[in-house]
Amino acid sequence: MADAPLPSLDAISSCVTGYDPAALPIAQAREFIDRLVPRLTATEFLPLRSALGRIVARDVISGIDVPAHDNSAMDGYALRGADLAADAPTVLQVVGSGFAGKAFQGEVGPAQCVRIMTGAEMPAGLDTVAPQELVNLKDERITIAPGVLSTGDNRRFAGEDLARGGVALEAGRLIRPAELGLLASLGHGQIEVRRRLRVAFFSTGNELRSVGEPLEPGCVYDSNRYTLWGMLTRLGVDVLDMGVVRDDPVALEAAFSAAAANADVVITSGGVSVGDTDYTKMVMSRLGDVLFWRIAMRPGRPMAIGRIASEGRHAILFGLPGNPVAVMVTFYALVRDALLTMGGAQTQPLPILRARTVTAVRKKPGRTEFQRAILAPGADGVWQVRLTGTQGSGILRSMSEANCLMVLNHDQHRIAAGDFVDVMPFEGLV
Ligand code: AMP
Ligand code: MG
Repeated sequence: MADAPLPSLDAISSCVTGYDPAALPIAQAREFIDRLVPRLTATEFLPLRSALGRIVARDVISGIDVPAHDNSAMDGYALRGADLAADAPTVLQVVGSGFAGKAFQGEVGPAQCVRIMTGAEMPAGLDTVAPQELVNLKDERITIAPGVLSTGDNRRFAGEDLARGGVALEAGRLIRPAELGLLASLGHGQIEVRRRLRVAFFSTGNELRSVGEPLEPGCVYDSNRYTLWGMLTRLGVDVLDMGVVRDDPVALEAAFSAAAANADVVITSGGVSVGDTDYTKMVMSRLGDVLFWRIAMRPGRPMAIGRIASEGRHAILFGLPGNPVAVMVTFYALVRDALLTMGGAQTQPLPILRARTVTAVRKKPGRTEFQRAILAPGADGVWQVRLTGTQGSGILRSMSEANCLMVLNHDQHRIAAGDFVDVMPFEGLV
């Protein structure tokens, strides 16, 4: 990040109404993070297809009208609306044909019409298209019943999709398949996008072993680096996997420094619990400006947030909890949007649906709970949601079996079977 003067973390927290680091409501945590994170400004030009999943850097102005000419929306007959009789059949003589890419060139007189295909340019003077299924054709004459067609029907106007000089795509838009097509329809072979955010991540804990190593007694395989890698990769950032770091001040300091020197964001997991005796928190505090939160959410209460400095630059730090489910839930609830914002995207909140819970759910007011659940249509077609078994914050299987999170909001309590609850689906059409 550039070294512009930065507001201190204290200054940011003083702007957040209801800020309480010992019991921080999720909405306040989000607001703090949004104020903390800088926005990337660097850009690059990419060939169109390589830009899928990237963020538009500058408003794209249309240099042409799309479509370029008035044209037909149907296969049928182009005519003058003025020729349509109000209460008698209209009979018109067919004087030629127009095709997409090969317009009808001649003159069309009164009581005449032109056979026309979808996408063909409207012949001069004609303003209406009768779909072929509405007409009777006999001896090069068509008959149209009264009242079935109005002036202007089935005619597309030049520029109705994109008008020349208008903004076709705003800066900050995510490039999905539709945006690729839209850019191609303007004839753009390349596009200026934000550069990718670089995110370094590592796991902390002496008990962690990496895949491929033998598992000694009392140890667990490091799964957080895999869930994090997956979530980050899907988000379209550049990832830098720095492995497992032992709970040792020298190793931790080296890892944090290298991460902050090489990335815009550093994400760690483990070692941030309140009672933790690890060195992780100590080293985070020493290398940067870092707050330790207890967020009013479950799972995922502890979290470190701030900036880590190295070699004259700094990176944003997200110190996530160690428990595997807590890592994923905290990422979706707090980190995902922040990374999109940093990358220059106009973020849209993850879609939340309302669904009927099949069973009663226990919930304490005063915190947001994210339960792992399965969403499916019920027999009456209304979406229903049920929990996936054991909900412990270390039970990764509960995530794997789920296709959504049931989001029980801060003030909610006592959810009865049949109540409607918020649900955040995992899969979307992007
Ligand atoms: P911590 O927050 O470091 O106290 O970790 C909480 C729990 O999560 C402990 O049971 C850790 O063993 C476990 N844990 C921490 N990091 C990981 C990881 N990378 N992969 C799997 N489990 C982890
Ligand atoms: Mg630990």
